[in-house]
Amino acid sequence: TSIGSATSVAVIGLGRFGTALALELMAHGTEVLGIDDDADAVQGLNGQLTGVVAGDATRPELIEQLGLADFDRVVVAIGSDVTASILVTSQLLRVGVPQVWAKAVDERHALILDQLGVSHVVRPEADMGRRVAHMVRGALEDFIEIEPGYAAVRLEVPAGLSAVPLRELGLQAKHGVGIGAVKRDGAWVLANPETRFEAGDTVLVHGLTPKVEAFAVLMA
Ligand code: ADP
Repeated sequence: TSIGSATSVAVIGLGRFGTALALELMAHGTEVLGIDDDADAVQGLNGQLTGVVAGDATRPELIEQLGLADFDRVVVAIGSDVTASILVTSQLLRVGVPQVWAKAVDERHALILDQLGVSHVVRPEADMGRRVAHMVRGALEDFIEIEPGYAAVRLEVPAGLSAVPLRELGLQAKHGVGIGAVKRDGAWVLANPETRFEAGDTVLVHGLTPKVEAFAVLMA
């Protein structure tokens, strides 16, 4: 398989985060080149990714050999070894990879990656912790903050909610939330002004985070 085109993604570091990310990309049809300096980590994914390579990604020669400069998107999923994360990331930026995604383990690590010029810094533990906090607060099934301050949640419609069309419920005026979609009998459909809730429906609610949370509490 030829790999290294603009449509492929290289994932450096095949720990828990990198592995989950790489497998999810594969599951959705993206070619993935996985790199890790731990032979066992690489061996474990052999055959599940488009390509796997065992090697130390801090070595400029490896980055060159693998043609990582030709990838549009590279993910640095090395966390605990902050030095390695920084060395790899700076090499990738130096060879001109346009989109570098890097995982940070803490605030200081995130700041350095940011200062290096990484376009996408992700903090899986911190982000997930915040997300779960919102889920716990509102007994929500799912909570995604699109960016700080704006959220989308999945809620079950309580029994007894009046069966008038959305247009008449006035959720936006009264509660400051919008309904994006409704899941009924296992299928999501986009909501429209004529949509009527039924008991057992799941709805996708979006809006400013505090509005969405307040609405979720009301619906609980
Ligand atoms: P997680 O918490 O997602 O498991 P870790 O930071 O513990 O993440 O794992 C990172 C992975 O990156 C490990 O599999 C490790 O072997 C790999 N790794 C660390 N340093 C390098 C390096 N210089 N080159 C390639 N892979 C590396």
